[in-house]
Amino acid sequence: MAYRFLIIGSGFSGCVLAERLAKNLDCYIEIRDERDHPGGNSHTSRDEQTGIMVHRYGPHIFNTDKKEIWDYLNSFGEFRPYVHRVKAMSKGKVYPLPVNLLTINQFFGKTFNPEEAKKFLEAAGDKSIGEAKNFEEQALKFIGEDLYKAFFYGYTKKQWGCKPSELPASILKRIPVRFNYDDNYHNNLYTGIPVDGYTAIMERMIDHPAIQLKLNNKYHPGEDVSGFDHVFYTGPIDAYFNYNAGRLGYRTVTFEQHYANGDYQGLTQMNYCDEEIPYTRIAEHKHFTPWEQHNVTVYFKEYSKETGEQDVPYYPKRLASDKEILLQYRSQALALDKVSFLGRLATYRYMDMHQVIGEALAFADRFIHCLQSRVKPPVFPNEENI
Ligand code: UDP
Repeated sequence: MAYRFLIIGSGFSGCVLAERLAKNLDCYIEIRDERDHPGGNSHTSRDEQTGIMVHRYGPHIFNTDKKEIWDYLNSFGEFRPYVHRVKAMSKGKVYPLPVNLLTINQFFGKTFNPEEAKKFLEAAGDKSIGEAKNFEEQALKFIGEDLYKAFFYGYTKKQWGCKPSELPASILKRIPVRFNYDDNYHNNLYTGIPVDGYTAIMERMIDHPAIQLKLNNKYHPGEDVSGFDHVFYTGPIDAYFNYNAGRLGYRTVTFEQHYANGDYQGLTQMNYCDEEIPYTRIAEHKHFTPWEQHNVTVYFKEYSKETGEQDVPYYPKRLASDKEILLQYRSQALALDKVSFLGRLATYRYMDMHQVIGEALAFADRFIHCLQSRVKPPVFPNEENI
């Protein structure tokens, strides 16, 4: 008899999992999403007024080093080349980010070559710091106080709502420092933007007779799901357990939408690094699709704040106190039968799209294997690396 699976959430985790299960097993799959659209926070749709493809929950640039993930995604829609180049406004001046040779030379008024710049930053770095224990130490150790204060301190305080010394060093490690003039924001081998947007990619993934998507359909913890052989939950893990061990810390983002004629800022993303400016960045979405022609433009100012009960959780904060709460939820989850937790919100990690997709592909393989060999499927994709 066909298996019956319930997937909560139609972001990349839920859609990739559904696609793999439907392709490899005799099954019926119900995907439920409380929103009125699929795609999770990678959702894209065209702006009604301008026709510009908008990343509804903020800029999403697909990038990966893994050819198999790139090929998999491309099998659901065309990607066009796009290199993310970000500029940063600091004390009334514009610099390229990530920090590279031009940033260093412009900021310090120098004409360093790569070797000179490297030596200069080595001298500026705080040598008393051994293994960097947090975001601030990571910055002070590798780029020194001046660049840290100009580009990271204010932005990070606005973005995360806490002191950079309370945040993990891993957040800063997302961004490279380069001693050449390469200003590509990402280091990956494959990068691009889907011509029809991310939502179209996910819709094609789940376009299968065995898969039914139910939108505007919120899952309530404790609901009777006995009609399903297995439940895959991709929402916030604390919500699944009705917050019985407390709320995990998330930052949420709000967007202020504006229209203009022509080109508003000349590129996709301008970061505002000064603490006094209330927003973190401005994203002008038509620059994601330079192959399209638009005489008008739409742009979004991004504001970050603590996630309230009615807000959409975006960025997991992962402070030490959050980790303690997370461990309690994980042990409750491990005691459950026939439920797995997958994705950024259910595993409470700051993940990029390619990581989410890679993990969902690997998890689907493991799950199918377990089912076929009649052993208990894993509860989490990340048994270590919590
Ligand atoms: N960051 C910063 N200044 C910048 C850009 C980034 O301080 O101009 C810090 C900030 O703490 C941010 C982190 O680096 O949360 C990671 O940046 P990334 O651009 O990867 O963030 P995302 O696009 O995922 O929001």
